[in-house]
Amino acid sequence: MKKIETFIQKQKAYFQKGETKKISFRIHQLKRLKEGVLNYEEEILEALKKDLNKSEFEAYMTEIGMVLQEINYTIKNLKAWAKPEKVKSPMVHFPVQSFLYKEPYGQVLILSPWNYPFQLCISPLVGAIAAGNCVTIKPSELAPNTSKVIAKILNNLYPVSYVAVVQGGVEVSQKLLEKKWDYIFYTGSTRVGHLVMEAAAKNLTPITLELGGKSPCIVDEEACIDLAAKRIIWGKLFNAGQTCVAPDYILVHQSVKDQLVESMKKYIFQFYGEGININFPRIINEGHFKRLQGLMKNGRVLVGGHYDEDKLQISPTIIDQISIEEPIMKEEIFGPLLPIMTYEQWDEVKDLIENKGKPLAVYYFSENEENQRRALQQLSFGGGCMNDTILQVSTPYLPFGGV
Ligand code: NAD
Repeated sequence: MKKIETFIQKQKAYFQKGETKKISFRIHQLKRLKEGVLNYEEEILEALKKDLNKSEFEAYMTEIGMVLQEINYTIKNLKAWAKPEKVKSPMVHFPVQSFLYKEPYGQVLILSPWNYPFQLCISPLVGAIAAGNCVTIKPSELAPNTSKVIAKILNNLYPVSYVAVVQGGVEVSQKLLEKKWDYIFYTGSTRVGHLVMEAAAKNLTPITLELGGKSPCIVDEEACIDLAAKRIIWGKLFNAGQTCVAPDYILVHQSVKDQLVESMKKYIFQFYGEGININFPRIINEGHFKRLQGLMKNGRVLVGGHYDEDKLQISPTIIDQISIEEPIMKEEIFGPLLPIMTYEQWDEVKDLIENKGKPLAVYYFSENEENQRRALQQLSFGGGCMNDTILQVSTPYLPFGGV
């Protein structure tokens, strides 16, 4: 742990030199990062295959492609973002001029999770570099192959006095959190989010917490059912449901439930076939695999329910006859299980969602604009879509996060 102390001191000294504040320096480093990602594309894809059995297509689209898009967008806009902003002054101050100046925090700590282990580590790095900070990254120990490639790329690109990668498990995260940072960016579970906030509070360190939760998918009686089914299955089964904004459960109007189940079944078979598809992403580890098996014990399996313990794969599974008291409705599922519950009146939907706390995302399927407006006015959630899933996180023009 002496090593951690040493590079923290080095970063402090480097930041104070002021080099990282220059816009030209930041743009140059972002261009090098892009080059690094492109040079190691093959290795990143291989690592994601080993860690999560991600297919090349999925890994490129949701990890490498998103990172490259983020870098390009940032390089294009950085000068404008960093410029001092002229603001109005009160009449009585005449002839004063007022400006907002943007400055980097200093030393930033990034702790990232295993589910999109490349993208969720590098995207915050892009922001931190763009803003002129020195950065320490702790990738997830649960995706060890990707963590190794990340370390290799960044160690080749940057000195530790600027960007350092620390590998290791929970004890390493804890050691890092004992140090004083100027900003902490954490992505992961709500449980650990509490610990990160507690550690940051000791030094009044500002933080970003990107946490998880249960994101509902509502299908009302005026939805286009076939389209809803297709888009729910598409969004749910990315990374085998191990996505923070994946539809977690379905609330469907009683009158269209059977039709929705039939259509979802059709799309599951069309996209992945029956049983277990060898290209379907796996569950990250045995602990999570067992946890998901436990969640399948309640309710009735309508579709799927197959698993392969050796390969840690679970087939897409739809479950009904679930009550809100069961474990599957109490915790974030984070796997390819999709419970489906019915409702008759809108108030039932509103009450259930309100009781669970503000979700990260809500997906609402309806062709009725009045119903859509009602959902927007009455539900509080971080982001979401009308008649689609997940798309809100793949645009740089919308913010991301909870409420
Ligand atoms: P996790 O909290 O277990 O781990 C994330 C990081 O925290 C890792 O680097 C890990 O080493 C560290 N960590 C773990 N336990 C720790 C402890 N006791 N003290 C200090 N550090 C600790 O999260 P995870 O399981 O890797 O990720 C899954 C969760 O992340 C899900 O809840 C998911 O919804 C959420 N998530 C959120 C977003 C988002 O952007 N909102 C994106 C992806 C995942």
